[in-house]
Amino acid sequence: MTGYRGRFAPTPSGALHFGSLIAALASFLDARRAGGEWLVRIEDIDPPRCPAGAADTILRQLEAFGLHWDGPIRWQHDRDAAYAAALARLETLGLAYPCSCSRKQWRQYPVYPGWCREGVLEPGKPVAWRLRSDLGLHPVIWQDRLFGEQRFDPAELGDVVLQRKDGLWAYQLAVVVDDADQDISDVVRGFDLLDNTPWQRQLQHALALPEPRYLHLPLIVNREGQKLSKQNLAPALPLADSEVRPLLYRALAALDQAPPAELSTAPVDEQLAWANGQWDPHRIRPEAHRRE
Ligand code: GLU
Repeated sequence: MTGYRGRFAPTPSGALHFGSLIAALASFLDARRAGGEWLVRIEDIDPPRCPAGAADTILRQLEAFGLHWDGPIRWQHDRDAAYAAALARLETLGLAYPCSCSRKQWRQYPVYPGWCREGVLEPGKPVAWRLRSDLGLHPVIWQDRLFGEQRFDPAELGDVVLQRKDGLWAYQLAVVVDDADQDISDVVRGFDLLDNTPWQRQLQHALALPEPRYLHLPLIVNREGQKLSKQNLAPALPLADSEVRPLLYRALAALDQAPPAELSTAPVDEQLAWANGQWDPHRIRPEAHRRE
């Protein structure tokens, strides 16, 4: 074992599409090439957004593409106590605070101006919990494996929400707690999450958690330049082997791995064995967006 631990962490708001295949495949190959482990975590912290059956569909799709994961699946709906403990710790450290403000109130500011930092502005109203961005890293810097050094000013990030007014956990807190709890060494995911990373770095720093390496991938967009999603009718990944093979090949090509033409109809395991032997993330052109 190399100590490498990667993960694919889909939100089960619908079936996987070509864009999610890119993230799943790249994180899988990066882990396997390193002789490491690859975990799957279902990020179902927002039940109203997660229709019944979507997580099952995702797992069947991963299997159809030969992306077999290690160990048990982690479900975020089981992790309430861990997120609550992290929030309590931040509160004890003076790094999280309750906030009664509504977005309407701070509409004319680019980010929430921190009015409740020294005490809830309107006691008795429901509160969200926010992270103090002014007491942490200045600036927030990390090295992306594809996009190089990233630098953010905490004042421009604002005090990110950790728990919503309705009690649901925010993605930023859950992802940081679980990446650390699962000993994730490497995060490989789409470019749309690159600008979430500074909040995650802030939280890791505040909670004294290790910093994983980050590799963000060009985001696959449709002809109109929109991220593929259920809303813009991106087709779900197929399950039938005859459709899976050419699509897997297309995904390898979209990751700039230059698969040989004869691989395009080869069985999934053969394509993955080839890709595993060849995987080189440095071949990926560092573009934020890539046409489907
Ligand atoms: N759950 C997030 C999504 O599906 C991805 C989280 C991550 O990879 O950090 O967009």
